Amino acid sequence: MTEYSTVTLDTVIPLILPDAQTVTEVEHYTDSLFRFRVTRPSSMRFRSGEFVMIGLLGDPHPDTGKQKPLLRAYSIASPAWDETLQFYSIKVENGPLTSKLQHIKVGDQLILKQKSVGTLVHDALTRANRMWFFSTGTGIAPFASLLREPETYERFNQVVLTHTCRDSGRSQIWRRADSRDQK
Ligand SMILES: Cc1cc2nc3c(=O)[nH]c(=O)nc-3n(C[C@H](O)[C@H](O)[C@H](O)COP(=O)(O)OP(=O)(O)OC[C@H]3O[C@@H](n4cnc5c(N)ncnc54)[C@H](O)[C@@H]3O)c2cc1C
Repeated sequence: MTEYSTVTLDTVIPLILPDAQTVTEVEHYTDSLFRFRVTRPSSMRFRSGEFVMIGLLGDPHPDTGKQKPLLRAYSIASPAWDETLQFYSIKVENGPLTSKLQHIKVGDQLILKQKSVGTLVHDALTRANRMWFFSTGTGIAPFASLLREPETYERFNQVVLTHTCRDSGRSQIWRRADSRDQK
């Protein structure tokens, strides 16, 4: 199953939610896995390998009608130099966030908290001749960020990525990124 759509930045709609960013690309790899890109706040700084909190508004409260943000941690798959932010996402059956998130479309908004954190960053990695990145499923995201970071190849002579998935469909994240999306 493949759906692919893209949008140019001059068609991005004005932001309405606080901390909102606009979805610029969505691609569904399988029934349980997809990737998307959102605009990057101009003031946002992060280190390759870090994660942020992203989400959508939850269902309206039955009495008050108020909607609270439904946020989850997501690793940024883009390197620190990228102008947009890419994420890989699971679709958890009945998952509070991903049962909604899997329906996002280009031009939609999602909430992105700019504060990024994480320890899978160059400052925490010891220099070595060879670096192994062992990843599973969407856990490839921080490694994808580091693999797109030139500093990685200054620090290590050889970088080996392993990506273990429940089925071959899920391994498309990196196989397809390698041919089309890797920048
Ligand atoms: C530091 C950090 C980084 C993360 N980065 C990502 C990311 O880049 N992409 C992503 O899809 N998720 C990521 N997650 C998981 C994410 O925060 C949510 O759990 C996920 O989006 C599902 O949200 P949900 O509300 O639908 O279901 P939840 O109620 O949050 O999860 C329900 C159950 O689904 C399973 N599950 C959740 N996420 C995954 C997953 N990615 N792979 C396999 N099983 C899972 C777990 O068993 C979990 O208990 C990360 C989590 C952490 C702590």
